[in-house]
Amino acid sequence: MPEPRMRSTSAKKRVRRSPKGKKIIMLKPKKPAHAHCALCGAILGGMPRMGVHGTAKIAKTGKRPQRVFGGVLCGKCTQAIIKEKTRLELGAAGKKDMDIRHWKYLDMLKIK
Ligand SMILES: [Zn+2]
Repeated sequence: MPEPRMRSTSAKKRVRRSPKGKKIIMLKPKKPAHAHCALCGAILGGMPRMGVHGTAKIAKTGKRPQRVFGGVLCGKCTQAIIKEKTRLELGAAGKKDMDIRHWKYLDMLKIK
C-alpha cells in the first residue's frame, strides 16, 4: 500500500528516474488558493497565486492592487463602501441603514 500522502488523486504526478535507474513517482506541489474578497468571497484580481517564497521575489506593488482595500475587498464591495461613506458624510443616511458587516470598513475609510 502506498503512503497516504502518495494516494492523493488531485496532485499532479511526475515520473522521474533515480540515479540507480529506478522509476520514481513524484508529486508536484499544489499552488496556493486564490485570494478572496472578505465580504462577498469573489476571487480578487491582481493578486499573485504564490506562497511566501514566491512573493518575496516580487515588488510590494506587484502583490496587491494599489487602492483602498486592495487585496482585501473586491472592486464592487469597495465601490459600495465608498458610496455608503459618502452618504454618511453628507448625512443622507445613518449608519444603521448600512449592512453591519460594512461598519468595520466604513470606520477604516477616510475621505478627505
Ligand atoms: Zn466583494
